[in-house]
Amino acid sequence: MPRNALVLAEGREKSVKRRHPWIFAGAVHHIKGKPKAGDTVEIYSHDGVWLARAAYSPASQIRARVWTFDEKEKVDAAFFARRITAADERRQGMVEREGISGYRVVAAESDGLPGITIDRYDNVLVCQLLSIGADQWRQAIVDALTARFPGCVIHERSDVEVRRKEELQPLVQTLAGTLPEKVAITENGIKLWVDLIQGHKTGYYLDQRDNRAAVLPYVAGKEVLNCFSYTGGFGTYALKGGAKHVTQVDVSESALALAADNLTLNDLEASQCDFVKEDVFALLRRYAEEGRQFDVIVLDPPKFVDSKANLKSACRGYKDINLHAMKLLRPGGILLTFSCSGLMEQSLFQKLVADAALDAGRDAQILRFLSQAADHPVNIHYPEGLYLKGLVLQMD
Ligand code: SAH
Repeated sequence: MPRNALVLAEGREKSVKRRHPWIFAGAVHHIKGKPKAGDTVEIYSHDGVWLARAAYSPASQIRARVWTFDEKEKVDAAFFARRITAADERRQGMVEREGISGYRVVAAESDGLPGITIDRYDNVLVCQLLSIGADQWRQAIVDALTARFPGCVIHERSDVEVRRKEELQPLVQTLAGTLPEKVAITENGIKLWVDLIQGHKTGYYLDQRDNRAAVLPYVAGKEVLNCFSYTGGFGTYALKGGAKHVTQVDVSESALALAADNLTLNDLEASQCDFVKEDVFALLRRYAEEGRQFDVIVLDPPKFVDSKANLKSACRGYKDINLHAMKLLRPGGILLTFSCSGLMEQSLFQKLVADAALDAGRDAQILRFLSQAADHPVNIHYPEGLYLKGLVLQMD
């Protein structure tokens, strides 16, 4: 047995054998050698069967993240180049078909690279390294990206609190080239600014691309309310689709400023769009008091559930916004409603929306079930990769 290894407790090898990439602290019986944080360790069953090769995270409850289930595969710089290239190649058909210049190149566990997210915005690559294992391989990742995308700027947005669980500090740095403040991407024939400095996550919500297009059939000549608009993606699509008027609502001033710039970028009329900097929970109530009505409402809130402990309060939040949005919809109106919380299952989300309809005294039909775009795939052995769900409802 090599020096650095984790030997699992009896009966705890099942999930690794099912090729799930996480090994929890409770599954580890003992450690051989003296691995340091981020080192590559061998994973063995209690009776000495080799199972996987993984990154060791001593500070985290997820004690190791699997790099490979193939005993012959070495974890070295070439490994990262291979995985990144394979992930990007898998997406090329989609990129060409859809003519998109912004897409997720690497979706962490779902692309066999736990803790590593890489998004491409035109000629800028933004990466996020969440685990100590991923953090150790930064230079190999930069080298692989430079080889695959010559001339691209590489920026790191690892400014996320979960890094503290791995005893890593949040971090922002440009790793190659000169970072512009913003860059425009194209999706579905629509141009969108991505704020590379202050933008959320890596800059944009690429996962909602198909769902932004899903608004198009319902908007011609209609009044649209886009709640949690961020930089106004759904609203920009709606105006392109012939909406009479769009109201974009967000608490972030810089996001709304970029939403306004997106109108100019797409030759759209500023007079057809309002920007409201307000809390959506309060705004929906205010509009009800004022008797405001809409034909189409989009509800795309941030992640309300970050642990099982706050699932209940998150459910109340989801129900509240859905209930109050439904009250503002005209008969026949359309609601596009989303949850990006991985811990909120589709069936529970649908039940909450049904509860909201009951309380609103409205009937509704589900016209479509929505999910994350194909550049955010789900590894079949890692169901946690599925997090975004949405419904298109038509109110009676
Ligand atoms: N629909 C967007 C992404 C939305 S992300 C798109 O397609 O790109 C969620 C947004 O909700 C963020 O911009 C955040 O600033 C905003 N937000 C969070 N809490 C809010 C609240 N209570 N009221 C209004 N906006 C809120």
